[in-house]
Amino acid sequence: MVDVHLWKAEENGKIKSSAIWNVIRERGQIVSWASLVWSLKIIPRHRFILWLAFCGRLSTRDRILAYMDIPDANCVLCSGFAESIDHLLGSCFFARSIWNPFTLAMGIVSLPGSWEDIKVAAQVLSKGSKFHVNIIKCGFAVIVYHLWAERNARVFGRVCRNVDHVWSDIVFDCGALIRTWRRVTKGEQEWVLFHEWKVNYDEVTSFKCFKAS
Ligand SMILES: [Zn+2]
Repeated sequence: MVDVHLWKAEENGKIKSSAIWNVIRERGQIVSWASLVWSLKIIPRHRFILWLAFCGRLSTRDRILAYMDIPDANCVLCSGFAESIDHLLGSCFFARSIWNPFTLAMGIVSLPGSWEDIKVAAQVLSKGSKFHVNIIKCGFAVIVYHLWAERNARVFGRVCRNVDHVWSDIVFDCGALIRTWRRVTKGEQEWVLFHEWKVNYDEVTSFKCFKAS
């Protein structure tokens, strides 16, 4: 037979870039937390930090100590314990002071004390696409992002904010994202959640379109 070109990435006689990508890419194992970390209900830059946190790749001081000496390996949020991801996002006093108002706002009894267990609990709580579940996904990622941002601000910027200040930034970010959601059903639970996240109830539950005149 005469040699012919056969393209693996051919669909209906045409070469498609999406098909080429599927042929050349390496497929990794799909992890159980993928749908949470890459949820569209999470601000993209928060997704990236959350991904690093789930992979255990944030450059906490215990990891830095493995390849270089540093004068202080303590947590900059509480100064009492060695900094590790499990401490920083889980058992640290500062982190607990942020997780607690989050659980109150979302009507969750409590979250576990370790980051490993918080990750598991977050996956359970974030199943589905109901309004309160979407807020859990968004809020969870916003908190991880801001805890890491506050840690970095103290390490590199020497700026130190208290728990109330960080929590108000979390509420602001989460509220800003919630305001972009539309066609949220009206109900008592929704009204309470809007109140907790300082979002105008009518702004999001109204189906009206406002045009500039
Ligand atoms: Zn700490």
